[in-house]
Amino acid sequence: MNLLADSNRDWRRARLFGPILAMTFGGLALLVVLSNFLVQRFDIVAAEQEQVLVEHGFARQLSELNAVVATQVDWDDAIAALDHKFDAEWVDFNVGNYLYTFNGFSHTFVLDRDERMLYAAVKGERRALGEFAKFETVARRLIPTIRRAEVARGPIRPRPGKNNIVIPPIQKNAIVQMEGTTYIVTATLVQPDFGKILPKGPRAPIVITAKPVDAAMLGAFSGRYLLDNLLLLDPTILLEGRQQIVLRNLDGTGLAALSWEPRQPGTALRRQLQWPLLGGIVMLGFLALLVTRRGKAIVNELITSETRARHLAYHDQLTQLPNRALLFERLRALLAARRVGGSKLAVICVDLDRFKEVNDTLGHHAGDELIQTVAARLRETCGDAALIARLGGDEFVVLLEFAEDAQVRGLSERILVAVAERIESEFGWLEVGCSLGVAVIDHPGVEPTEALRWADVAMYRSKDGGRSRVTFFEPEMDDALRARRSLEADLRAALGDGSLRMVYQPQVDRNGQITAVEALLRWDHPRRGAIPPGIFVPLAEETGLILPLGEFVLRRVFTETAGWSDLRVGINVSAMQLRSQGFAAVVTRQAAQAGIDPTRYEIELTETALLGDDPVTASNVEALKRLGFSIALDDFGTGYSSLSVLQRFSVNRIKIDRSFVCALDDSGEGEALVDAMVKLARSLNLSVIAEGVETEDQRKRLMACGCREFQGYLTGMPQGADSIAALAGYAASEQVRKQG
Ligand code: C2E
Ligand code: MG
Ligand code: MG
Repeated sequence: MNLLADSNRDWRRARLFGPILAMTFGGLALLVVLSNFLVQRFDIVAAEQEQVLVEHGFARQLSELNAVVATQVDWDDAIAALDHKFDAEWVDFNVGNYLYTFNGFSHTFVLDRDERMLYAAVKGERRALGEFAKFETVARRLIPTIRRAEVARGPIRPRPGKNNIVIPPIQKNAIVQMEGTTYIVTATLVQPDFGKILPKGPRAPIVITAKPVDAAMLGAFSGRYLLDNLLLLDPTILLEGRQQIVLRNLDGTGLAALSWEPRQPGTALRRQLQWPLLGGIVMLGFLALLVTRRGKAIVNELITSETRARHLAYHDQLTQLPNRALLFERLRALLAARRVGGSKLAVICVDLDRFKEVNDTLGHHAGDELIQTVAARLRETCGDAALIARLGGDEFVVLLEFAEDAQVRGLSERILVAVAERIESEFGWLEVGCSLGVAVIDHPGVEPTEALRWADVAMYRSKDGGRSRVTFFEPEMDDALRARRSLEADLRAALGDGSLRMVYQPQVDRNGQITAVEALLRWDHPRRGAIPPGIFVPLAEETGLILPLGEFVLRRVFTETAGWSDLRVGINVSAMQLRSQGFAAVVTRQAAQAGIDPTRYEIELTETALLGDDPVTASNVEALKRLGFSIALDDFGTGYSSLSVLQRFSVNRIKIDRSFVCALDDSGEGEALVDAMVKLARSLNLSVIAEGVETEDQRKRLMACGCREFQGYLTGMPQGADSIAALAGYAASEQVRKQG
């Protein structure tokens, strides 16, 4: 898994516009396919309808031809001229010539009641009877049908009282082909119309007519049914893109085909619409492209601003490193992906040592610059393989997937070295180290908060163990952390449960006379016994409990020592109290309540508390001095000592740290240092006292250096107020008795 994977802009765009483009072009393609399908359907339906129309049209054509013949043959006069007494002139005029001239019947033949030839005409001209030979075969096949119908009709009788009869014509058609010409041959029985003249016998003559299916007929037919390019073709040849009906002889054999080009309304419509349609499609495509391009620009902007917002939400503004939120997200994903036997995950907690000092002494700008430099060094050291996040303050976390433990060890060591290197800043050279805590996770089912807590616990182990080191988390450490938490809760409770008390350690002059005491806090834990201030004071500082605790000390010391008129009393105040806005007011109030004289009290501050330019610290010190308190610089020589500090805060006394007193031996080096300190104090007109004096030898050497005041086990152990009062010859104060 790429620890730094970010959202892929191209992929997101494709995901958005892919479907839009696909839908647009897919829609267009569908439109084209659909319109093609419709065009084809239109054409097919039109062709089917046309087929039916032409078939009916041809049948109708036949019946119209039949009607024409019947008009001339079913007639009383025709009975007279053909049946009663054959009148060739009449037949010429009314049948042969008439049918040819007005209706294009090329052949006309008349057969008598016994089917003997009576008359033949070709193209309206009477001809020899032998002309009938061509049509005889088909005529003889039609005649039996006519005769059967004649028998079925029965004899014709005049209707009594009526001067007409109604007899439907008896006719039969056939298609024949002769010498390349297709004919419609019709046999028509001669019948009366009004019935004034009736046939002589039960059988009447029969008229045979033939009409060629010629250009004239085709022209008229196609004109009537609006057929394009109507032709009479060989029925066995089927021409592409043409439709036809087959004309068959009596046996059903196809003789010819009426073939035409079907009308294609769909195709015609498409031809008409194709350019506007094509234009529309192109415009639509263009529009889709335009919309996509505009959309892309807008989406790009959105993605950019979203990316920016995401970056803001997920990155630390000072270092641009991932922040806590992003760390949690990635950590959660990495932990969820953990498999038994897979690669391991290291959560490395990196906390700067002494960062607060830099921040407090040189200000926030120096702190910011320091953090930025450390971030850059972490980046350089860890490379791309790891995820580096800043949790806030001076705390960083590095996530690393690894296979070999040596990788984590190596990286941790490199981080230690990289961070410890001196940093050149506009505030001068800065030096910080860092403490590392590493939690190695090699099994599934670990929650991010738990993994981070483990690394944190290990990191605190590094801090407790002297800083600038790496500690790998082990389950027992968790117990230690829990103990620390419970201690914090107990300390909170101790503020009210009477387990805190004050002791006072004498400070003596060169003659061993007690001139002052230092008030020291003691905590008698109900279960764990005495807990040294070296443990609980830093804990109180970390948790903020130092403010109520400090107030407790002030109240208790002022009340217990109010009556010690000749003794100066030293009170320890931590840097955090001094940086608190209302501190001077708290001291003023407590002093007023106890009714003490501030000039008898000395506030002990450490050097680091006074370094830097914190305005609150400065105003608190000023206020204390105005009230009459004096100021002692505690543990002198162990912190950042600065002459300007001594002058700026007009410190009254320095307390040479115990470590220098311990170092007083025959080598003479310790004495040189103490000597320098005493001379410095003298030149600045400050008092000097040495702390932690345990032996007479130390006292003598200090004396030799010019030190005249001492505090230590040699001259007095820290002890209760009553004990001090007795030592100094005061009656124990009433208030103290009451407090028990
Ligand atoms: P500190 O202010 O430097 O106090 C002197 C410490 O040295 C005391 O330790 C004292 O018992 C110890 N000491 C005195 N003489 C000797 C000696 O001859 N040999 C040795 N080895 N030690 C000696 P303690 O009481 O454990 O206090 C430790 C630190 O806790 C103090 O150092 C002070 O910084 C802090 N502290 C104690 N009480 C208070 C308090 O009421 N308020 C605040 N803010 N800090 C306090
Ligand atoms: Mg002190
Ligand atoms: Mg001290």
